[in-house]
Amino acid sequence: MINDRVEAATSAVREIREEILRRQRFLLTSHARPDGDSIGSQLAMAFALDALGKSVRIVNADPAPDHYQDFPGMERVEIASHVSADVDAVIVMECSDLSRAGVSGLEGEFLINIDHHAGNRLYGALNWHDESAAACGEMVFDVIRELGVPLTLEIATHVYLAILTDTGSFHHSNITPRTFDICRQTVEAGVNPAAMARRVFDSNSFGKLKLIGALLDSMELADEGRLAILYMDDTMLSACGCTHNDTEGLINLPLTAREIQAVIFFKVGPNGDVRVSMRSKYDVDVRAVAGRFGGGGHKNAAGFTVTEPLDVVRPRIIPLLVEEIAQGLKSRP
Ligand code: AMP
Ligand code: MN
Repeated sequence: MINDRVEAATSAVREIREEILRRQRFLLTSHARPDGDSIGSQLAMAFALDALGKSVRIVNADPAPDHYQDFPGMERVEIASHVSADVDAVIVMECSDLSRAGVSGLEGEFLINIDHHAGNRLYGALNWHDESAAACGEMVFDVIRELGVPLTLEIATHVYLAILTDTGSFHHSNITPRTFDICRQTVEAGVNPAAMARRVFDSNSFGKLKLIGALLDSMELADEGRLAILYMDDTMLSACGCTHNDTEGLINLPLTAREIQAVIFFKVGPNGDVRVSMRSKYDVDVRAVAGRFGGGGHKNAAGFTVTEPLDVVRPRIIPLLVEEIAQGLKSRP
């Protein structure tokens, strides 16, 4: 089984290498509301393509949170919801479906799909889907190595950023020896893990600290303290002087309590739609719950969006989560 996977990965990486080498103009994209893995994967790939003398555009639907803005190459990211792409290939990273990019106009292009989310729809001309990767950045790293591009500090920084953030700073259960092997190589290339952790996790605004207070103050507990429920709307955000870009990472706070096994975070938007994010420990599978509502993600980090009012969806979701917590606790290490 593992050998099959390694063989599939090896041939996928080789095919991607061939198609990249024979093409010249690339457009890179990733999912809307980018996170560290989408930023890191795209920028690492961009610097690698630069090194091969290719022309590269990066187009995202939304700007990245502020603390990513001073990472190398970020000024290259164009923000647009539509693009007329005059390119030879589009590399889509971190998207289980092309629509996750939130950028239209890419449909007819030669698509190279590189992703680690469960349920990827294999929408590309080339598809490399590896759920066992802890971050899409791990897969991008393999492509870059296969292309023979040296691991510069810029590339290494973005690969490390992708892994650091998508493993929830090395908390999630999909971390493997390969994760550390790649990190080791990035550190050898000059990445400073302490500085990276400070830049990514210790860069809150005072407003965000206030928001943390407000969120935890209104946190509810269910399932005898095993499930934390967080709620936020635009009124709360603006009372703290924050925007949606300040909410990254907040969902992890309740998991620092020993008893809490899973967190659900309801973010109500201005037109009433509800973005639901979930996180969990060990084998508690929140993706299974997200899948029931048309969303996706990973075992320990998943999400979805619904248009029904919160008081309608909430009672449908909570019992499913409680059930997953019970299942997950059965195999607790
Ligand atoms: P978030 O809670 O938004 O940080 O998302 C956690 C994980 O779930 C990430 O890997 C997302 O890519 C994934 N995810 C969130 N929303 C969706 C969705 N609507 N469809 C598929 N995957 C999603
Ligand atoms: Mn990812």
